[in-house]
Amino acid sequence: MNPSFSTESAWKIFEELTVNAHQTQQQVLQEILTQNLHTEYLSQFLSSDSDREDFKNNVPVVEYEDFRPYIQRIANGEPSDILLAETVTALTRSSGTSGGQQKMIPLTDREMDRRAFGRCLLSHVENKMHLHLRLLFSRPEIKTPSGFPTRPILTSIFMSKHFGQHESSLYTSPIATILCSDSKQSMYCQWLCGLLQRNEVVSVGSTFGSILVRGIKFLEDYWKELCSNIRTGQLSDWISDTGCRNALLTILRKPYPELADSIEDICNAKSWEGIIRKLWPGTKYIDATVTGSMVQYVPMLEFYCGDLPLVSKRYSSSECDLGINIKPLSNPCDTSYTFIPNMAYFEFLPIYEDGEEARNKKEESELVDLVNVKPGRFYEPVVTTFTGLYRYKMGDILKATGYHNNAPQFQFVRRKGVFLSVDMEKTTEDELGEAVKQANQFIGQFKLHVVDYTGAVDISSIPGHYVLFWELKMEGSSHVPELSPGTIEQCCGIVEESLSFVYRISRKGNGIGPLEIRVVKKGTFDELMDLFVSKGASVSQYKTPRCIRHEEALKTLNSGVVGRYFSQQFHVSTALKW
Ligand code: AMP
Repeated sequence: MNPSFSTESAWKIFEELTVNAHQTQQQVLQEILTQNLHTEYLSQFLSSDSDREDFKNNVPVVEYEDFRPYIQRIANGEPSDILLAETVTALTRSSGTSGGQQKMIPLTDREMDRRAFGRCLLSHVENKMHLHLRLLFSRPEIKTPSGFPTRPILTSIFMSKHFGQHESSLYTSPIATILCSDSKQSMYCQWLCGLLQRNEVVSVGSTFGSILVRGIKFLEDYWKELCSNIRTGQLSDWISDTGCRNALLTILRKPYPELADSIEDICNAKSWEGIIRKLWPGTKYIDATVTGSMVQYVPMLEFYCGDLPLVSKRYSSSECDLGINIKPLSNPCDTSYTFIPNMAYFEFLPIYEDGEEARNKKEESELVDLVNVKPGRFYEPVVTTFTGLYRYKMGDILKATGYHNNAPQFQFVRRKGVFLSVDMEKTTEDELGEAVKQANQFIGQFKLHVVDYTGAVDISSIPGHYVLFWELKMEGSSHVPELSPGTIEQCCGIVEESLSFVYRISRKGNGIGPLEIRVVKKGTFDELMDLFVSKGASVSQYKTPRCIRHEEALKTLNSGVVGRYFSQQFHVSTALKW
């Protein structure tokens, strides 16, 4: 696939692919099978004359752990054709983990071309004549014992020739600032470049909503220093990365006192409501994924960005690109992703209303093809990729919403299997998210917001109970908010009332103890991210885990606790809500 398409021709191809979604999927599977039938993995299930039917009947539907031994062998220097025929150029470090270890996914040159095609499609919504401010981050390459480079997929993309030649000129951040592996220096320089070019910027964003919120908090802490650099034309001494320093030489060429004055005027305002539009007056939209678990960042982004549309452009992963949002101005809660039929071979495991996946082998063999999904139903995507994953369960839950031509569209619902559990109760990520949203609305009247949150289970006393860690922010102030214990205790009650019927029954029967909120000091969730980043996670792909079991992470959170509050609710309602 030629990655250097114009966006118009990429769009034309996309239209053809979606019209011919079924044929495209057949070709994709045929190509993957022809190339890889002889691999050690596939030859366990298929012979040289196997066809699509044999694939469906014989190749098992599996999870990451089934591939880990093969990928580990490749990492240790064995030829990669144990899993796939194409040459593996690097191993992608995903933000997801399996069995507590980071997942690694093989990457090839052709896969990079495929993803470049996906990005060409997205440029269709981006005006190439203007500049876009994007906070983008990389992680250093780590070599496996046999010398294989491993890196997050976004780092591979930023390092690629295609990005350097065709895409980086769209952004205010010079490539050296994106590739700087010190995220603090990188963030500082990217804001500086964005501020220096503030009148040319037409959109502001990052990969995920959480990263943009984090970025704006950083701006609140550093705007005075940034203004001083702009006023004097001198970059702060603590920026020691030579790539960043050299890149800034071409942008911060001289003192810009008037620019510094106008930025200072804006940032000095009592409230930062709508700050993004004030700082970058030409901004037309915010580009950051806010679907799925990112939906909780919407209120904060709406506060900082005013009424600018929040655009979630893509559904993508380390495993493969999956879909794009062809109606970028849709409301985040209505955003659907149209699957791109030539990115991988897609099948779908139906998820039943109780959240259960297929219960037996027969149901698994009835995986639904891309063109046969039914709008209104829930599914987990099962992908067969060009990079050596065969019938691999992605772990995401999607809701089919309709079709574009013959390619289905899905809303992202949540990651599978992320839950808190005490007694018989299981609280899913989106149930917790919804409950926190209710409490967040309640504290909005006191000008408080939940900046970030996560959950854990405390079973040190009987019965066990849920603990929510909350970082709070007072509107228009960067100081630690004053809290009235009664308010947060009320929040505990609101969360409990919003949780499931099973939770409330368990709570009433004393199977679960009163819910606890531990308020943490400002910056605790940054420390949590730093911890995961120090273990290899990518800043650009980082998603706050909503359920913490990791001991070091719990220690980090507990060391930031400034107040503990328990639900005082003695009678949790057990009425069913419809
Ligand atoms: P990674 O492997 O680090 O690239 O993370 C991929 C995961 O991020 C996916 O499996 C999803 O769980 C999540 N993700 C990717 N795109 C979206 C999106 N548009 N909305 C919500 N979650 C997403």
